[in-house]
Amino acid sequence: MSSPRRPRPRVHHEDESAVDVDVVIVGAGMAGLYALYHFRELGFSAVVLEAGGGVGGTWYWNRYPGARCDVPSLEYSYGFSEELQQEWEWSEVFPGQEELEGYFNHVADRFDLRRDIRLNTRVTAVTFDEDEEIWTVDTEHGDRITAQFCVMATGPLSVPNVPDLPGRDAFRGRVVQTSRWPQGELDLAGKRIGLIGTGSSGVQTTPELAAVAGHLYVFQRTPTFTWPSRNGPLDPEVQEAWKRGYAEMRRRQREAFGGVTGSTGAIIIQGPGDKPILEATEEERLAMLEERGFDASRAWSDVATNPDANELGADLYRAMVRRTVTDPELAEALSPSGFPIGCKRPVIDSNYFETFNRDNVTLVDLQQGGIETITETGIQTGQGHFDLDVIVFATGFDAMTGALARIGIHGRDGVALRDAWANGPRTYLGLQMVGFPNLFTVSGPGSPSVLANMVVCSEQHVEWIGACLAHLREHGFTTIEPTPEAQDDWVEHVNEVGQGTMYTAPTCNSWYLGANIPGKPRVFLPYLAGLPAYIEKVEAITSGGYEGFTLS
Ligand code: FAD
Ligand code: NAP
Repeated sequence: MSSPRRPRPRVHHEDESAVDVDVVIVGAGMAGLYALYHFRELGFSAVVLEAGGGVGGTWYWNRYPGARCDVPSLEYSYGFSEELQQEWEWSEVFPGQEELEGYFNHVADRFDLRRDIRLNTRVTAVTFDEDEEIWTVDTEHGDRITAQFCVMATGPLSVPNVPDLPGRDAFRGRVVQTSRWPQGELDLAGKRIGLIGTGSSGVQTTPELAAVAGHLYVFQRTPTFTWPSRNGPLDPEVQEAWKRGYAEMRRRQREAFGGVTGSTGAIIIQGPGDKPILEATEEERLAMLEERGFDASRAWSDVATNPDANELGADLYRAMVRRTVTDPELAEALSPSGFPIGCKRPVIDSNYFETFNRDNVTLVDLQQGGIETITETGIQTGQGHFDLDVIVFATGFDAMTGALARIGIHGRDGVALRDAWANGPRTYLGLQMVGFPNLFTVSGPGSPSVLANMVVCSEQHVEWIGACLAHLREHGFTTIEPTPEAQDDWVEHVNEVGQGTMYTAPTCNSWYLGANIPGKPRVFLPYLAGLPAYIEKVEAITSGGYEGFTLS
């Protein structure tokens, strides 16, 4: 561990609740926890401020029935500690919320992280003092922390989107959000439950709610492409093999487009295959449907890139919905159309369509009459009133920019990040922004993050930031900030890479594009070139002497 060549003068606070550290980290999800561990290892003092009452971020908040990761456990886990990898035992192929929350709590204890984590502490403002070159961080409790560096590990999917439906407060029953599911018992047995939203969260929770509800009403605005998870207990031999070769697996993850080696035996979605669907005969397409079920829709080389091929894949998908859902009208209503496969984050389920064959489940197809108002006793739609005891919102997140925009972040000249991003986020590498020196984002817009295995992405970002801080210390620099030209070029590059893909098709309305939030600029938020290409670019920039950054 090297010591600073020129130690930063400490800020002295009269108020005893105020502290001064090298790095403030906002958020105690997977990224914030690792950041604390890693920066400590490098000899920096750090504190983590977390709005929630526990650690784990996503896996602390999203405790709805059925909440589950759809990256295999062996892949969706930290690689920074061999001891941790060897001692932790995963039980399922795809870990559930409880197991993941347990894992992140274990990490917090195992590495003695809690002494520097303040829970139930929401950050409200982050302000740069240009003369002193320090950041001041204010919290909802009036605490004040000063630091040379600020790392925003606030999560790409941490701010719930709660639609502003008229009459929401009038409902006399219970209202819950999947992403703010209450801890402890929420008794749903025999209840009439209305579930709004059929994205990943809604699809995951549908079978679980149906299993306990008196009646479940699923309010669907847009049908979903979702594929079966085939989850099950983790094969002990597979786990042992990973334990023998974790180092190699972690290396391979960083070489894989989505940060997943695919060596766990888990079949996430089979495809793409070698053959173009446009060249397949009808018999071949039907044979694929027989063999692979829902996966037949993606098992071709051209579905991800050619709109006509994509539509043929979607036809196979809809054929499979008809085979699964016994009522033909219901199958039709549940069949996605009008936007391509692959434009939205793939949804992975356990018996989603089968659940609609149950007598106690009703699909409310909002295309036949939308939600008009929430009433005292339920939901009024254009097709009638539904009496309910519980309303569950599974309506998604203000993704990637939401958490940052909600904090008053002010950089040089008092410029607010919110204003700088009024027409869409602008970052260099998804790591830093012009005008906000020494402030870093983990998994920020313009980085691969949500398009890949996020543990791998978080570790890579945290390690880059750590190396950068050590470099500044080593060479006596006090600030780092991107140049406007480098940031402009990166924003343009991120846009270019997204163009012409299914993700940005004119018919696509996804949270990747901000399209789920009224008034949010339509900008493709993550970086689509894949994790290896991103890592290669970042490494070239770093070894080229932090090209595109000003170090002063
Ligand atoms: P988070 O886990 O979101 O943690 C951020 C933390 O910052 C939160 O605890 C939040 O409370 C805190 N915070 C935010 N603002 C403030 C503030 N102002 N003050 C104080 N604290 C603040 N990714 C995958 O790769 N595979 C998956 O299968 C997968 N499944 C997912 C399932 C769900 C239900 C959701 C919502 C996301 C899923 N993701 C998945 C994405 C997931 O968010 C990431 O994998 C990962 O958890 C992100 O970690 P993080 O630390 O960056 O952010
Ligand atoms: P989401 O994908 O954004 O889905 C939100 C759902 O709510 C959509 O069906 C949307 O309909 C609906 N909705 C929103 N506002 C509505 C309104 N006013 N009236 C009716 N319906 C409305 O959100 P999510 O399901 O929480 O998932 C977000 C992301 O989190 C995922 O894409 C994934 O990255 C992650 N996640 C992963 C898993 C996992 O399996 N590992 C689980 C949960 C979440 P429209 O489509 O019509 O807008």
